[in-house]
Amino acid sequence: MDKFELRCWDGHAIPGERINSRDALYKCPVCEKTLFIQELPIAGAGSGLQKKMAFWEDVSRVLPVPFFQERISIGEGSTKLIASTANENGAAERIYFKDESQNPTRSYRDRAAALLVTHARILHCKEVFCASTGNMGASISAYTTRAGLVARIFSDKNIDIGKKAQIKTYGGLLFDSYPSMNDGMDDCLKQQIQDGGYQATAEFNPLSLFAQKTIAHEIVSDGIVPDEVYISIGNGGTLFSLWQGFNDLHASGIIPSMPRLIGASVSTDDPRISPLKESKYSQRDLMENALRECHGTKISISESEITAAISTLARTEGLFVEPATAVAHAALMKR
Ligand SMILES: [Zn+2]
Repeated sequence: MDKFELRCWDGHAIPGERINSRDALYKCPVCEKTLFIQELPIAGAGSGLQKKMAFWEDVSRVLPVPFFQERISIGEGSTKLIASTANENGAAERIYFKDESQNPTRSYRDRAAALLVTHARILHCKEVFCASTGNMGASISAYTTRAGLVARIFSDKNIDIGKKAQIKTYGGLLFDSYPSMNDGMDDCLKQQIQDGGYQATAEFNPLSLFAQKTIAHEIVSDGIVPDEVYISIGNGGTLFSLWQGFNDLHASGIIPSMPRLIGASVSTDDPRISPLKESKYSQRDLMENALRECHGTKISISESEITAAISTLARTEGLFVEPATAVAHAALMKR
């Protein structure tokens, strides 16, 4: 019996086994809205969520057995929560940072890459296709190389020079001459369908959203039940993942109430924060529904506020973060 199904927010459902199609199955065939993985309750067993779970233990509650048996892992997940120095100085509110730079390629996308590349291997695909502004491309390149497969990464001409070097060093084949990410995503989809490889673009593969919700599970595993969670938003997928992760815990009775999620977006064209630009393959429909459900909100951040947040994190917390990360902290400082 399937432990999950693919679902859109309107409730149209597709059997979970369809995940084993090589097609990029990311839109609902009925209403064309974004699809996500919905866990199904198992009679008598509940969700199987426990107080303390490592990444593969968590995802294996739901995914078919071969995922665990054939897993490509470099030690993703189980990242630390770092307490703010403000907590020691008698502040009324306690603040924690979930340090996703502790993942193998230094980004949270490793959680998704581990599942996607494992899936590519289960499906006997030799090539993995991924459109990315940087982090996902680096993650997919690392895991694909480790699995003995070929990564084809599609990006635009503004890709960060550090991410570019990281992708190439891992052995990913980088195509970065596209004028915009929309063009790169179009071509990635087209070439993957033509060549029959595996589609690992975060916006085109519901396993990405599923992998990222483990972040919420880990925060609660560490004994923190947040009132509010601040998240940088681009296409909206990460915020939805966190909402889904906390919602699992709330539905299982593990946390008493849902945290309020705050999405931090940017109001600047600064190329340093290109990961936060919305594309035409946005998952914002899911994000908006999630924000409504948890009474969350969005806060818009300017370039100067990002710069101030980078400086504050470095000088008061000892944390050196990339601009797209600082956006979330800028929202916390601004509220
Ligand atoms: Zn639908």
